[in-house]
Amino acid sequence: MALDDISLQKFGYIERKPLNAINIDPLQRGGILTDEARRALVQWGDGYSVCDFCLGVLDEIKTPPIFDFVHDALPEFLGIDEVRVTNGARESKFAVMHSMANEGDWVVLDKLAHYTSYVAAQRAHLNVKAVPNSGNPDYKTDPEGYATAIEEVIRESGKPPALALLTYPDGNYGNLVDAKKVASVCHEYDVPLLLNGAYSVGKMPINAKKLGADFIVGSGHKSMASSGPIGVLGVKDEYAGIVFEKSPTNKLKEIELLGCTARGATIMTMIASFPTVVKRTQNWDNEVADARWFSEKLEGMGLIQIGDRPHNHDLMFFEAPALYEISQRVKKGRYFLYKELKARNIHGIKAGLTKFFKLSTYGVGRDDLSFVVDSFDEIIKKYE
Ligand SMILES: *Cc1c(COP(=O)(O)O)cnc(C)c1O
Repeated sequence: MALDDISLQKFGYIERKPLNAINIDPLQRGGILTDEARRALVQWGDGYSVCDFCLGVLDEIKTPPIFDFVHDALPEFLGIDEVRVTNGARESKFAVMHSMANEGDWVVLDKLAHYTSYVAAQRAHLNVKAVPNSGNPDYKTDPEGYATAIEEVIRESGKPPALALLTYPDGNYGNLVDAKKVASVCHEYDVPLLLNGAYSVGKMPINAKKLGADFIVGSGHKSMASSGPIGVLGVKDEYAGIVFEKSPTNKLKEIELLGCTARGATIMTMIASFPTVVKRTQNWDNEVADARWFSEKLEGMGLIQIGDRPHNHDLMFFEAPALYEISQRVKKGRYFLYKELKARNIHGIKAGLTKFFKLSTYGVGRDDLSFVVDSFDEIIKKYE
């Protein structure tokens, strides 16, 4: 493409149409900015904006208060010794895998692990052993499965895996496995455990120390009301020297972080949202109650909620035979549900899905959730 005026005309400022819809997209619910973060985004939008008073280490910047945030507030919030901000949950996982394991080592993870856990392991040239689950409809992971997988790795490779990983919750069904049990099973074999909290850190109370996790990972743009890409990585003291090893040539720079991570607006949006994020995790019981209420209402219409029942998280997966049946005989086919929801200003179920889909009730509130419930009821009745 030639960079002439014609081709340049389609770029420049691009308006994002305000959604102004009830958003039930699990990917987006926890990443919607607070007003404070929205202001911070504009204020700190210039490249390298936070570097005015940097002496060479991002998390030592005193003004703005990045030092206090990273070394005081976040360790307290996550219940872990050492924290860094990264460019995302996947970068956090890669940093741990790459530093804790040697090429050819094994990682044990739950079969419901996110694709980024696999890709991070592959980038670090590690082998992966997955812990199976009970399959449809509960997809329950038995913590004892970690013992079996670890023993298989020992049998096949002659030594324990370098790391175990638990997705907490998984991004498909929103299942929360007993992390404490998984941690104690792994520790029996001296295998450290990484908790992937991409869908929990910033939404629900989660404390690595209480659960026995050695590493904890969160995603700012997924669950901490931040404009990403940004993530957090918490590491137990015991492993901090390994994961945060400094460069022999550039003595202030941590190798796994490539010397610096969230060097601009992203960290300032995370800091701006933090007071709200801390408060909202304290409201978690109400969020779970809303999710259960919503699930019960949809099940009353013949939908089936897959995964943990009763559910313990806002991310839920539904099977909807009635909606699938409609899609088979209406003119708009499988797009009918998307169109009907869109007409009611409800956003977040992927276009074309009817038989299975996931959604999130996080922070939507009973009024709007009631409207969503009524809308499903209307849509099903309309095509009866
Ligand atoms: C979204 C998600 C990720 C990826 O998070 P990033 O911050 O975008 O890297 C990782 N794990 C799980 C379980 C997720 O849902």
